[in-house]
Amino acid sequence: MTQIFRATPSALEFFSQKAGVPYPARTYSQVMVDGNPEQELGDFTLLPNTYGTTLLSHPDEEWLLAHELAHQWWGIGLACREWGDFWLNEGVATFMADVFLGERYGQGRYEHEIEIAHTNYDRLKAAGKDHALCYRGKGESEVGGNLPYYKGAWVLHLLRRQLGEQVFWQGFKTYTRANWGRTVTSKDFQAAMEMAAGSSLSVFFDQWVY
Ligand SMILES: [Zn+2]
Repeated sequence: MTQIFRATPSALEFFSQKAGVPYPARTYSQVMVDGNPEQELGDFTLLPNTYGTTLLSHPDEEWLLAHELAHQWWGIGLACREWGDFWLNEGVATFMADVFLGERYGQGRYEHEIEIAHTNYDRLKAAGKDHALCYRGKGESEVGGNLPYYKGAWVLHLLRRQLGEQVFWQGFKTYTRANWGRTVTSKDFQAAMEMAAGSSLSVFFDQWVY
C-alpha cells in the first residue's frame, strides 16, 4: 500500500501550494475496491483494485491518483454551479494532475500529458463533438462526455502559456481562495484570471470557453 500511494503526500503538498488553500480535512483515504470506480468524495477517493496493480508494476502511472486528489480542491472545495461548467471540476483536475506529474518527473512528462489531452480533444472535434466549454442549460447527461476533461485541460494549458507562470498561478490561486466553499461559474474563473493579468481576457474566453 505504501508503494501504491507513495505519490500522495507530495501531491497533497503540491496542490495545497497551487491552491493557496491547505488540504481541508484531517485525513485523506484512498480506498481500493473491485469494479471500476473512479470517484472522489469528501476526504476520500474510491479507486479500482486494478489501478493498484498497475501502480505496483508502473509506479509512475500516478495520473488518476493525482486527478482524484485534485478534486478535493477543484470539485469539492469549490464546485461548478451548473453541469454546463463541468470543465471547472474535470478540466481543472485533469490539468492539475498533468502539472503535478510535470513537477514530479520533469517538463517532458507535463508536455506528454498535455499532448494526450490535446490529441483526445482533436479526436472529439473530428467526431463532431466539440462545443463551448461553458455549455449553458445542460444536464449531467449532456455535458459532453470527455470534452470537459480534455478540452478543459488543453485550454488551461493555452491560458498558462499566454499569461506566463507568475500571472497564471497568481490568478489560479486567487480563483481558488476567493471561491473556497462556494459554487463557481466560468465567469468567476475569468474574473480572477483578469485580475491577475490586469487586463481583459474576453478574446481568449470568447474563443475557448464561450
Ligand atoms: Zn474527475
